[in-house]
Amino acid sequence: MDTILSIKKLNKRYGKIHAVKDVSLEIQKGNVYGILGPNGSGKSTTLGIVLNVVNKTSGDFEWFEGKLSTHDALKKVGAIIERPNFYPYMTAEENLKLVCKIKNISFDKVIEKLELVGLLDRKDSKFKTFSLGMKQRLAIASALLNDPEILILDEPTNGLDPQGIRQIRDLIKIIANQGTTILLASHLLDEVEKVCTHVIVLRNGVSLYQGLVDEMLANNGFFELQSEHL
Ligand code: ATP
Repeated sequence: MDTILSIKKLNKRYGKIHAVKDVSLEIQKGNVYGILGPNGSGKSTTLGIVLNVVNKTSGDFEWFEGKLSTHDALKKVGAIIERPNFYPYMTAEENLKLVCKIKNISFDKVIEKLELVGLLDRKDSKFKTFSLGMKQRLAIASALLNDPEILILDEPTNGLDPQGIRQIRDLIKIIANQGTTILLASHLLDEVEKVCTHVIVLRNGVSLYQGLVDEMLANNGFFELQSEHL
């Protein structure tokens, strides 16, 4: 099962706004994909559609080569598409255990994931004492509790200070090296360049480029054209 997600000619209209226009793409196992584009280019809408939280207008998408229903496929997907939201007066460990209960998964991985995201020494601290970067890392730990095939992140470093940004980017690379496929949306070329192997460039809902990040960067003409807009 090498194709994790396949999107064909996806369209989304919000009234007069055509937010996603005939976008097709494939996400293959083991790579780190960046959907790169300025605000309003259709990144969040595309992620929302494949996560079944936004209705598509037309087109198709298929998880895991269609071998599972979308409902079952999404159990193998970890996603953070909003600001992390946990109980402020509960500890990091208690919050993750609660997520396990809600999702009906065992507590087995709670300590392992806290360690992975660098929060083991803060497991007994209340969520409200965490910095934004720590909150984001706890959200990543939460999304990984059932060892998903793919982790989806929407603007994972938004609002973080430089140290927080570095920690999240390093963490994404560690998770990718452990074999989890990653799909992240970002408006930052720098982020995609540092973290991703593959890129999908969106502008005004249109996919302008798809391929290896290194190839995009080597293609100077294209890069100069895009950098004016990113
Ligand atoms: P951002 O980083 O700002 O979220 P984005 O690239 O993720 O940008 P989208 O959020 O997908 O882009 O928005 C694409 C277009 O669709 C924008 O013009 C936006 O205003 C519009 N849009 C998004 N959600 C809605 C909605 N619920 N109702 C109406 N228009 C929407």
